[in-house]
Amino acid sequence: MGRPDAGRDGRSDEVLEGEEEMSQKITSYPGHEITSDELKEGKYLDVYYKFVPRYSWAAGVAISRFLDELKNGRIVARKCNRCERILVPPRMYCEQCYRPTDEWVQIKDTGTVNTFSISHVGTDARRLKTPILVAVVDIDGASPGMGILHNLGEVEPSKIWIGMKVQAVWKQPSERQGAITDIRYFKPLEL
Ligand SMILES: [Zn+2]
Repeated sequence: MGRPDAGRDGRSDEVLEGEEEMSQKITSYPGHEITSDELKEGKYLDVYYKFVPRYSWAAGVAISRFLDELKNGRIVARKCNRCERILVPPRMYCEQCYRPTDEWVQIKDTGTVNTFSISHVGTDARRLKTPILVAVVDIDGASPGMGILHNLGEVEPSKIWIGMKVQAVWKQPSERQGAITDIRYFKPLEL
């Protein structure tokens, strides 16, 4: 709703006299479309500029520590002493108790597939020959339903099931960057 005149400078919906003429196509200087051939011929000045964005972004206290520990091959969580839940990914505030969480705990790098998707479409919306296997993995040692979204590997898509036990496959220590991709994927524990 808002103000009935918002964004219209107080004018009514009626087309003001003279406005129609302003939107008409100009016929006296029609110009012509620039073709890609003309551009290749160098008929026009064109400029290429490669945009290199640089970001500085703070992940926050909890996720910074979480990512740091991934570099060491460990998954850490935060514990809330009131509801006794162990939260992963970790957060410094318990959204159930409305109070700060209390301590860091190391949890395992094994877990259970909570849900999964076999994706035949890539992140750029292109069709994939080999599907990506995406799953939410509830991590052992964290409270139920505390999961990490990640890929599955070393498994046939038809063999994935909800409740399947999996384990993280880590990158080599020298290749880790303090990112969730320091875990390459989760593979089945029992086959
Ligand atoms: Zn709590």
